[in-house]
Amino acid sequence: MTVSADLADELTALVGRPGVETRPEVLHRLSRDFSWLSPILSRDLRSVPASVAVSPEHTDQVADVLGFAYRRRLAVTPRGAGTSNYGQSVPMAPGIVLDTTRLTGISDIDADSVVVEAGVTFTSLEQALAEHNREVAVMPSTVTSTVAGFLSGGNQGIGSIEFGSIWDGWVRGLTVVGCVENPEPVDITGDSMDRHLHAYGTTGIITRARLCTAPKRERTVLFAAFDTLAAATRAGRELMDLPVPPRAISVDDRAVWETFIAHDGHDGAVLLRAMLDVGTAEAARTITGAAGGRVTAIDDTAVRAMTSSVYNHSTLRAHRSDPRLAAVQIRGEAVVEHEKAVRAAFPDARIHLDGNAPRRYGKGFSGLLLSTWVDDETLTRGIEALRALGVVVVNPHTWLVGSHGGLDGYRAAAATFDPRGLLNPGKLMP
Ligand SMILES: Cc1cc2nc3c(=O)[nH]c(=O)nc-3n(C[C@H](O)[C@H](O)[C@H](O)COP(=O)(O)OP(=O)(O)OC[C@H]3O[C@@H](n4cnc5c(N)ncnc54)[C@H](O)[C@@H]3O)c2cc1C
Repeated sequence: MTVSADLADELTALVGRPGVETRPEVLHRLSRDFSWLSPILSRDLRSVPASVAVSPEHTDQVADVLGFAYRRRLAVTPRGAGTSNYGQSVPMAPGIVLDTTRLTGISDIDADSVVVEAGVTFTSLEQALAEHNREVAVMPSTVTSTVAGFLSGGNQGIGSIEFGSIWDGWVRGLTVVGCVENPEPVDITGDSMDRHLHAYGTTGIITRARLCTAPKRERTVLFAAFDTLAAATRAGRELMDLPVPPRAISVDDRAVWETFIAHDGHDGAVLLRAMLDVGTAEAARTITGAAGGRVTAIDDTAVRAMTSSVYNHSTLRAHRSDPRLAAVQIRGEAVVEHEKAVRAAFPDARIHLDGNAPRRYGKGFSGLLLSTWVDDETLTRGIEALRALGVVVVNPHTWLVGSHGGLDGYRAAAATFDPRGLLNPGKLMP
């Protein structure tokens, strides 16, 4: 009997047969994510295929699996849809992949919030909320990804102009289970949630979350062509102050928007797109024109296509058109103020920006500087050059939790919720 078969029998007793997977090709698939978009992660991330994948059907089975893993000292890598791009859902030690995709309960839809289980996808959540004339406050452009995966591996997305990032209040509560001797669900609210958000599962498994919702709105997309990045971002920044804030705004160099699914509205050296409440479309047209833009289309059928061509979808689309392209994440007014020097920091640079308003920075743009990959040294030099210009840079070529801050909090929570270091081992910064 292989190790996997032994484990499989014991885990089957906990979650039932359909919830246990040992086929090598499936384990291989469940041990990957989108980290191949990074040349460094593709090369350096030490991926170890799972020995077995377990997919609980009920949230209380998560505690059973974690108690089992604790007693047997087995690594547990939690996984939603596996769309993360920093290697977050790639196991670095043999053991269990805890697949949450069968935890799909949606309940308690009240006037301004909803309770969801870990594996609920944004697609199904949007459908359920639409029946109540509501929509989720924020969702990633990867709408087929899971709520707990987004809260554990993501950051911001569609809706972040109005509601900010995952740390900014629209996540009302979490239920977290630790990998301890007798795991019990723990309800967490307020600032204590910070240590469980964007933690890659290293500080406990999220089984449930209460999320804020917003009134469902009818939306359309405004497209406008600009000659310069400065004019397009100026218009975008003004659009963020519309009485109903846009659900999303993006600004793309021609070399980026040319990789999107074609649309008649695509034009200009720089393209601005704004996903608007239909009632604000005419005001948006006026603002855009006054800022020097030429409105090329207003199209309510373009909402879905825009959803899947913002945030890291621009990296994915650019990479598909030219596999040599890699990204660094950028933020701040310095991107536009020092545009020429920013572009000179990397070879063949092209820019994608998303409008958002995380509490830490306020309204503005973050995005991706895409460039032809050369080597690690060129990346380091480029990042240093950007930082010297005042650009906030997040290096996406690392799999370590806490590399962008909050490490002490993550470590403290891990000491309580994962004293044996079994949850997603290798991810918490040593
Ligand atoms: C093309 C593309 C576009 C993207 N767009 C965005 C975007 O707009 N905004 C954004 O923030 N991110 C974005 N991402 C990153 C990623 O898609 C999102 O963060 C996504 O929501 C992750 O969800 P998932 O279900 O795929 O999670 P997974 O990739 O399965 O997991 C993400 C992390 O969470 C952990 N995890 C999963 N479930 C749990 C749980 N129940 N408890 C604890 N830990 C858990 C995993 O171990 C992993 O570390 C994008 C990625 C790609 C490739």
